[in-house]
Amino acid sequence: MGYPIVITCDRTMASEYHGLLFLGFSACLPTGVLPDLLYYPLFCPSARHRKGRLVCAPYGIRKIEAALIRAGIPAEEIIVAHPAHINRVVSKETEVLLVSSNDPLGMGPATSTFTELWGGEGRMAQKLRHLLTAKSIQKQRPKVILGGPGAWQFSVYPEEQKRLGIDTVITGEGEHSVVNLVASLRSVPSQSPPPVVAGEYVPNEDIPDIVHPAITGLVEVTRGCARSCDFCVPTVRRVRSRPMESILRETQVNLRENTGVLLHGEDILLYNSDGLKVNGPAVVSLFENIMKVPGVSWSGASHASLSSVVQSPETITGIQKALKWGTREHPGGYFQVGIETGSPRLIGTHMKGKVYPYAPKEWPEVVVQGMKILHEHSIFASATLILGLPGEEEEDIRATIDLIEKIAPYGSIIVPLLFTSMETSKLAGTTSLTLDKLTPSHYELLEKCWLHNLRWLPVIWDLYSHASPWAIRQTIRGAMRMGSPFVAWKIRRWARKRGVPAGVYKNSRNS
Ligand code: SF4
Repeated sequence: MGYPIVITCDRTMASEYHGLLFLGFSACLPTGVLPDLLYYPLFCPSARHRKGRLVCAPYGIRKIEAALIRAGIPAEEIIVAHPAHINRVVSKETEVLLVSSNDPLGMGPATSTFTELWGGEGRMAQKLRHLLTAKSIQKQRPKVILGGPGAWQFSVYPEEQKRLGIDTVITGEGEHSVVNLVASLRSVPSQSPPPVVAGEYVPNEDIPDIVHPAITGLVEVTRGCARSCDFCVPTVRRVRSRPMESILRETQVNLRENTGVLLHGEDILLYNSDGLKVNGPAVVSLFENIMKVPGVSWSGASHASLSSVVQSPETITGIQKALKWGTREHPGGYFQVGIETGSPRLIGTHMKGKVYPYAPKEWPEVVVQGMKILHEHSIFASATLILGLPGEEEEDIRATIDLIEKIAPYGSIIVPLLFTSMETSKLAGTTSLTLDKLTPSHYELLEKCWLHNLRWLPVIWDLYSHASPWAIRQTIRGAMRMGSPFVAWKIRRWARKRGVPAGVYKNSRNS
């Protein structure tokens, strides 16, 4: 029997990333930076599958699968498929193909920054195109529904939706809207699906538990973000913390194929919070409860905000203790954080909520203190910066350069991104920053960030990859150590050619 409902994703999402979810970020590197022959085995090895069925799947897909099953669709009518095996599972019985994509047209801030700087095509866009032109899809023509964090991109280029053969794009949360659309399409197959559906808000009690394991044992603990940064498109601004019983049930599901769990939320420190006020005991007991589950050998969290870190350093101490970070067994933890700018003026204009409970003028100090606290607790941050925010002036860039110098002693990776105006954000219609508009100060900032990263990457890799396969660990380690001086020389030469005076990195290098 074939499957009436096939759920899949592009190939860059069908990987367990050697157990290191942050390697998934490498999918933002455009084609051409690394040949596929090296890129896929090193950074994005193929996920495990059984006859085309993914063993562990991206978490968002697992939620949609769970919502469909909860709505009464028999589990045997659904397959969560490996994209490389799509031709095995799409058949004449397939009525609906649900596809998840993080960056379907390569317009996400990270991909567009890297393609702007280094050329090439967004890898996620390339792989989505390959998927949708698969022989079986072209032949059977199921209804194609696309969702995921990058779905907004089709509102900018609606003609691409048609060109790729996507019937409906769903933006926002999917559990209600996908289920309703699938039910409607299956009951009246001849109907034309709506081209765009705005996903409905899903109340906490309607969010289903996943029924099969997610990649790297991901478990969502909060959904939504109340900080309301102007440039961002969080799914929804109303925040929901998942009940502990649900988190523990999903942990059990993940343990069938994983040895630990990665907790996901836009700010892990706001789990069960009172608005934006950290509820330290709730956060610490969340991690303690996870670590008590038999079979959990590690845990971690995806995102935190620096203002929450500074607000409650004792919570960071509690997490470190619960997860034994800084020990031989678990040398280091990792959070993704947003710095975005070192300019109090820009942060006050575009992201007051990110700083709360502090004032915009305190932001540079909050960043320094937050990075210091994380470093002292063996937690390494991957921090984003945004160049070219609307209204940015020379003094704002200088303030960010100063800030990067100040955080040089703290183990971190800084990811500078060129501002991308997203259609569904408050900054829709403003001008995105492109290569031709970069000033020498922007180049100086880029140089500082990349040299900072070059200094910290090998250190962080050694700590973070201690449990990954020896050959992968050593290959990447060797490449970093041997390649660093050459890359540093290239970066410096690149900056000199763009008008950055020599020696700008002297202070931070010596600190
Ligand atoms: S804090 Fe992060 S998730 Fe929340 S609105 Fe700002 S950028 Fe978006």
